Order: sequence, then structure tokens, then C-alpha cells
Amino acid sequence: MSEIIVRCSMPNCREPATYKVAASWTDSRFKELKTYGHACDAHLGPVFRAAEDRRASYKPAAGESVGEINIYRYTNGWLDWELQRKGDLEENYRSWGSGAQGV
Ligand SMILES: [Zn+2]
Repeated sequence: MSEIIVRCSMPNCREPATYKVAASWTDSRFKELKTYGHACDAHLGPVFRAAEDRRASYKPAAGESVGEINIYRYTNGWLDWELQRKGDLEENYRSWGSGAQGV
């Protein structure tokens, strides 16, 4: 039996992932979670912001749409729809970005 350990997306970090950063994606026929990265407790912030940057620079094809970046509590071996979304964490990290200016 081989168990795949998903690790944090930060370069040089070898911690197992505790969060999954993903956005809902659809092309009007299929809908799925598009994974932007995985993060350990220490790197959720940078992984989330990197994901938002990538989403912002992505140009969807016709009929394709990508939702907001969401944070999910990651549990190894669980399926996408079983993961718990952490909306409070998303608010935290989003406000960091916009609130930093002029403060
Ligand atoms: Zn990490």
C-alpha cells in the first residue's frame, strides 16, 4: 500500500500540507476544484497570495470560468468535496493584501 503524502508548495519546505488552496473551475460542462497549491500552517499566507496572483494573470478560454481562491483544510486522502472550507482564513489573508496600503 502506498500512501502519497502531499507536502507544502513552498520551495524548500518539507512539511506535510495542512491546507489546500484551490478555486472552483468550470467550462460549462464540467465543474471541479482547480488546485493552486498546498500549504503547511506556516506558509498558508504566501501560498494563498501566490495563488491569487496566478489567478489574476490567468486568461480563461471561452466558456471557462475560475472562481475566487478558496482555502480548504487539507486532510490526506480525502476527496475534494469532503474538505472543509475555511472562509474566515480567506478573509484574513485577503484583507492583509488590500489593507496594507496607506496604513
Ligand atoms: Zn510550508
